[in-house]
Parts: sequence; C-alpha cells; structure tokens
Amino acid sequence: MDQYEFVEPMVQEPMVQEPVVPEPVVPEPVVPEPVVPHEQIENIAVAPPMPVAPPMPVAPPMPVQIPMLPQRFCVHTTQYGREGYYLIRWTHSGFDQDNKRIHCLKPDNHLNRFYNIASRTITPYRWNEIITKKNNGTVSRPMRWSYTDKYLRFDDTRIPVLRITPYNVLPSIKATSFIPISAPVAPVAPLAPVAPVAPLVPLVPKPTMYKIETIPQHVIRALLRDAAMYEEECPITSVDIDITNGAVTSCFHIFEKDAIQKWLSLPNSREKCPICNTPCNSYTLD
Ligand SMILES: [Zn+2]
Repeated sequence: MDQYEFVEPMVQEPMVQEPVVPEPVVPEPVVPEPVVPHEQIENIAVAPPMPVAPPMPVAPPMPVQIPMLPQRFCVHTTQYGREGYYLIRWTHSGFDQDNKRIHCLKPDNHLNRFYNIASRTITPYRWNEIITKKNNGTVSRPMRWSYTDKYLRFDDTRIPVLRITPYNVLPSIKATSFIPISAPVAPVAPLAPVAPVAPLVPLVPKPTMYKIETIPQHVIRALLRDAAMYEEECPITSVDIDITNGAVTSCFHIFEKDAIQKWLSLPNSREKCPICNTPCNSYTLD
C-alpha cells in the first residue's frame, strides 16, 4: 500500500551490511561520502564545498544491497528564484545493455496537499548510481542520488528528499509538481491551507457550481478507453487506468474508481476533485 516507505532501504543498508560482509574489508572508509556537486541542487549554505579531487573511483564493489531509488521522491530546488521542493516519480522503462534497470523520471503531482518538512537522522549519505531517461527523450544517462535527512510528510505519506546529480537528468518542473517553501511550516490543517500552493496551480475560473446530472455510458467508455490507450495513470494511486478500474468525474478527470470514491468520501476533500478542485461526482461504467 504505502510505496513511499523509503526508510527501509536505509535501515537495512548499514545494519545488514556489517554482519553480512564476507571479507573484513570495511566498506565505509572507502566511500568518499560527501561527494561532488550538490550545489546544483542546493545552492543553500548547507552545501559544504568539498571538491573531492578525483571523481570517485567507481564505487567499490557494491555490498549486497543497493538501495532502490524511491518511487516517489523530491528534490530541493531554488530554480526560478523560488525555494521549494520538486516532486518526482519514476516508472520503469526497460533495461540497458548491461541489464541495468532504466528509470524514466516524471514530474509528480502535489495534488494541492499541504506538506510538512521533517528531519530524521540517517547514517552515511551514500551515493547510488542509476540510469535514467527523461520521459520524452531517448537519451539515457547515468545519475547519482542519495538520501538527505529531510522528508516531506502528508498524513501517512512520506516523501524523501534526495540529492541528485547531475540535476539536468530531471524533467522540467511543472507547477503541479513544485511545492514552494513560503512560511515556516505552520500547524497542519490538512487540506485547508491550500494557500501556499494555490497560486501555482493554473487558476480555475471560479466555479459557479459545476452541476452535471450524469455522464452517458458511451462517453465514459470512450474516455476510459482513451486513457488506457495513452497509458494514463490514476493521479492518486499511479495505477494504470483501464476500462474496468477507471472512473470519470463530472469535471472529466480520470481516476481509479476506488481511489476517487474514497477521496470524495473524505470530509477534507469536500467532494472536490483533487486535480481541479471543482465539486464533483464520479461515474463508472455499469
Ligand atoms: Zn477535476
């Protein structure tokens, strides 16, 4: 259910490592820990300029477990002169010639949620190598990522803040994937203070109650078939939409039907569409 549990890989890494290591060679000292440029990502004072001279002699034979890139993560950014977090997720897009998994990076959607920034203590920030591909491009390139001691929190959702280099492997930032840091995080009134995020979302003309009686079955079918054909995913669950699991809202947004029904039943949703914030109903095929 919770695919964002990034804590596990971190825990098992240092823990498991010690007992398991076959040779007494301690891997720790070998890893030049605060490697290379995260200035690109965090031009904040935090970045200790550690211009380690030779760029890491290809990480020593990886110990047993290589942490997986979390499916959803975020990156701290000051692009556009605004400080904030950029939400990203990956889908899998095949293997390269060395049979390494290629991750296709896409902007994620903050869904107008109000995230808290939290800290945790973690052990060594190890750089992990990975192959990435932008969602529209054909160019695959290596990148490195590591955890930081920050994460974003929304209810049970925890999204780790990662460092990534080079930064330009990331797709360009969309308004719906960028969470600005405005005020020092205020009390968590769950969906209510949409405020900090709202201005970024393309303004929806003030709805004068969008009422729709129903959507004809053939229209629902056509929309879902289309969504399936273009491999659209549910914005809530990221599950692929198909004709059996999809639902269409009265504002014509498409979701996995269980997810949108659950969403609309939550008091905090106020029966509004998570995408466009319009009061809505959802419809499925009979
Ligand atoms: Zn909508």
